[in-house]
Amino acid sequence: MARVLRDVCGAAVSGPRVRFGPSPTGFLHLGGLRTALYNYIFAKQQRGTFVLRVEDTDQGRVVPGAAESIEGMLHWADSHLQWWHNTAVTGPVCGKPHRKTRRPQTSLAASEVLLDRGAAYRCFCTPQRLELLRKEALRNQQTPRYDNRCRHLTPKEVAEKLARGLDWVVRFRLERGVEPFQDLVYGWNKHEVAEVEGDPVILKGDGFPTYHLANVVDDHHMGISHVLRGTEWLTSTSKHLLLYKAFGWEPPQFGHLPLLLNKDGSKLSKRQGDIFLERFAQEGYLPEALLDMITNCGSGFAEKQMGRTLEELISQFEIGRITTHSALLDLEKLPEFNRMHLTRHIENEALRQKLIQELQLLVEHTYGDQQVDKEVLEKEYVEQVLLLRKGHISHLKDLVSGNYSYLWVRPLVSREHLQTISAEVDEIGKLVLGLMAKPAAVWTIEELNKDLRNLQKQTRETKYSSMMKLLRLALSGQQHGPSVAEMMVTLGPREVCGRIRKVLSS
Ligand code: GLU
Repeated sequence: MARVLRDVCGAAVSGPRVRFGPSPTGFLHLGGLRTALYNYIFAKQQRGTFVLRVEDTDQGRVVPGAAESIEGMLHWADSHLQWWHNTAVTGPVCGKPHRKTRRPQTSLAASEVLLDRGAAYRCFCTPQRLELLRKEALRNQQTPRYDNRCRHLTPKEVAEKLARGLDWVVRFRLERGVEPFQDLVYGWNKHEVAEVEGDPVILKGDGFPTYHLANVVDDHHMGISHVLRGTEWLTSTSKHLLLYKAFGWEPPQFGHLPLLLNKDGSKLSKRQGDIFLERFAQEGYLPEALLDMITNCGSGFAEKQMGRTLEELISQFEIGRITTHSALLDLEKLPEFNRMHLTRHIENEALRQKLIQELQLLVEHTYGDQQVDKEVLEKEYVEQVLLLRKGHISHLKDLVSGNYSYLWVRPLVSREHLQTISAEVDEIGKLVLGLMAKPAAVWTIEELNKDLRNLQKQTRETKYSSMMKLLRLALSGQQHGPSVAEMMVTLGPREVCGRIRKVLSS
């Protein structure tokens, strides 16, 4: 009969329960984020629960600060969407979010159950003996494995060794004849682990469980119904199922996610340092762009499509569509993903307000010592810049790069320089000043484009393209960039007049 899980108030917890179980032996990278995300969207779609479980069983390999960093990065990925907070329930089964891993007591008790049942045994082999076994196997070109020697110790021999105070570990007896299991992604599967491995250690000499025991015990006690994890664990699953069988527990369903590789099929190297989330956060990428990219290159959706929101990922995800092919990641496309999501943020009233604040800070930080005219920090102005430049920028910080400095500080342009483009600098300047008296109601890019066309007809000999070049330089100090009409709309008539007058009087 299926177990009924209850929260602190005794209410039955329904729906699937999944977990993301990163080891704090390093920082969160794109592969980890993808596993977390698939778990999350599956839970959300099925009205289930997503649990974060930091697996710090291997204390020797724990990197200080890694657990906090992983949580911090999940918060970051969550910052606009509140994606995993909403799903965790409170209670002994799962915290909010669950961050409890080392359950040495529970695992210790569990290992005793297995010892009592004869499914596990104490192993007294010394590290020296194990090392000899290893070397011998390598010499014979075989894969090293424990020879299960202590399996055959009699109770009397065990008692004697214990009485002598010898060190011991607990090993799990790997039985032959594993049953196949149906993986949600890979289909029917089984690995005759006993044929290729020696009995694995499940409890170490220091009383701490190894991953295999802790994982099974924690998943059972937390009521995990579906284990969605990286494909590197596929071959361990038969071993885990043997453990479930030995305990007499109902196992969860397993689904293994294919590898995430570079575009050329090579391994995503954590050493490259460029796949860690911290880097993307620092570079100003939007979390949604990352979520979109890592699901876009993988499977699980009927169609390949860019620009999906998290809500769309949840509603369109179909676990049965995850294929066994590796997902190829094209990091060069990330700016494009970001551009799409940035555009969506700018178009959304509430999200835009946040961007306005961020841009104001960026401008102050970048141009503060160049005496930014406080007017350029006004909300309306910053908002106008965002609305007009949406779709053209892939990062917010693009707007404080050199190409856009004219938005925040007046450019240095000499009249002599402008005269090399057209001798009619004064005439054009005056015509533009006249144009700036236009009523605000007709201050649109379209209208201004028409006006500029008419204005050129009033010059004696300046071509339209030269006039535009001259005005773009006068207004922005740049040879390229947005249209002159857009610059005028952004800067507003007062600032345009200011810049033209400055050139005329230089
Ligand atoms: N702690 C394991 C890892 O970091 C998780 C394995 C699992 O999900 O069972 O890969």
